[in-house]
Amino acid sequence: MCQCHEEIARWMEPLGAQVQIDGAGNFRGVYPALQPNAPRLLIGSHLDTVPNAGAYDGILGVVLAIALLEELRGRRLPFAIEVVGFSEEEGIRFGTPFIGSRALVGRLDQELLDVRDARGISVREAIEEFGLNPVKISEAELEKDTLGYLEFHIEQGPVLERLNLPISAVDAIAGQSRLEFVFLGRANHAGTTPMHLRHDAIAGAAEWIGTAERVAQSVPGLVATVGKIEAKPGAMNVIAGEAKLTLDVRHGSDEIRVRAVEDLIRQAREIAGRRGLSVRENTLLDQPAVAMDSFFIEEIEQAIVRTGCPAHRMVSGAGHDAMILAEKVPSAMIFLRTPGGISHDPAESVAREDVEKAIECGMHLLNQLASSPEFYKRTNRA
Ligand SMILES: [Zn+2]
Repeated sequence: MCQCHEEIARWMEPLGAQVQIDGAGNFRGVYPALQPNAPRLLIGSHLDTVPNAGAYDGILGVVLAIALLEELRGRRLPFAIEVVGFSEEEGIRFGTPFIGSRALVGRLDQELLDVRDARGISVREAIEEFGLNPVKISEAELEKDTLGYLEFHIEQGPVLERLNLPISAVDAIAGQSRLEFVFLGRANHAGTTPMHLRHDAIAGAAEWIGTAERVAQSVPGLVATVGKIEAKPGAMNVIAGEAKLTLDVRHGSDEIRVRAVEDLIRQAREIAGRRGLSVRENTLLDQPAVAMDSFFIEEIEQAIVRTGCPAHRMVSGAGHDAMILAEKVPSAMIFLRTPGGISHDPAESVAREDVEKAIECGMHLLNQLASSPEFYKRTNRA
C-alpha cells in the first residue's frame, strides 16, 4: 500500500496537487481551484483489494479520478477536486469493511480501533506500524467545504453487459438482510425409516430454498441467496435431524426487501409445520438501502447522454464507500460495464472504450457542475 501511495503521488504532484496520507491510511490529493478557499468535490474509490483479486475493483475509480485531472490539462475549476484512495474498504484483514471511509464521516471510533486481525494485531497497531498516528484520525474527517463525493466503480455484475451499455448512474445501494434459519427434525436410520414416517430437516430446508428462489424470481430487482447449508449429523446413511442455512436478501427498496423476508419466514414455518419439523430464525443484519443524491444522478445522466450513450440508472447490489460518505455529503456513483460480470477474480476486466466513455462522462460532469449555481448552494450536511 505504501508503494501504491508513492506511485499515485508521483502521478498527482506534477498536476499541481497537494498530496498526503490521512490518519486512517487514506490517500488524499487536492487539486486546487481557481480561487483559494473554494469548496471541494471529492472523487475516489478504494485502493485495497481481496485475495486473488482482479486489477480494477476500487483502484480503477482512483485512476479515473486522476485521469480527469490530467484531462483538465492545467485548467482550474471554481471548486477544488480532492482525489481519495480509501484504505480497508473490503474488510479482509479485520473483518470490518469501510474502515478508511468511516474515518471521513467520524465513525472510526475506539471500538473499531481495538478490532484485531487473525494475528492479534489491532487496527490501532496496524495504523502505527504503517507509520501513521491514530490520534490524527479525527483530522481525516470531511471538511465543511465538501460539496459531495463521486465514485467511479466497475459494476461487478452482468447487467450493463446484458443491456449493452458501457456506463450507468447508480440510484441507490441496495439494503441487505442476513438471516440464519435452523430446521429441526428427527435424525434416524436411512434404511429402516419409511418415507412417510420421516422428519427430514434437509428435505424441508431444500423445499424452502426452492421457495426462496421462486419468491426472488417473481419480484423485479429482488435477489435472495442461500449460500451456506450445514446438516447434522451429516452422514450419508442418516436422515438429517438439523439443517442450518443462511439467507441473504437485497433490494433497492427497504419495503420490498422487508416484505420478502417476512414472506420467507412465514413460508419456512408453513413448510416445517407440514413436515412435522420446527424452524427458528435469527436476524444477523438488517441494513437499509442508501439512496444516491438525486441532483448528482440527474447531472450524471445528462453527462452520459452527452457522450452519445443512453441514460440509465441502476441499483448497486454491493456496498461501496459512497454508501458511507452519503451519511454526511451528497454522494453518487458511476458504474462501468464488467465483462462477463466477473469480479473479485484475476479474470476481472474492463474494456478500454468503456474507460474512455467514463472519462468523457466525467469531463462533461465536471463542466456541468462548474457552471451550476445549484451545485454551490449545497453545503456539508454534517
Ligand atoms: Zn470495490
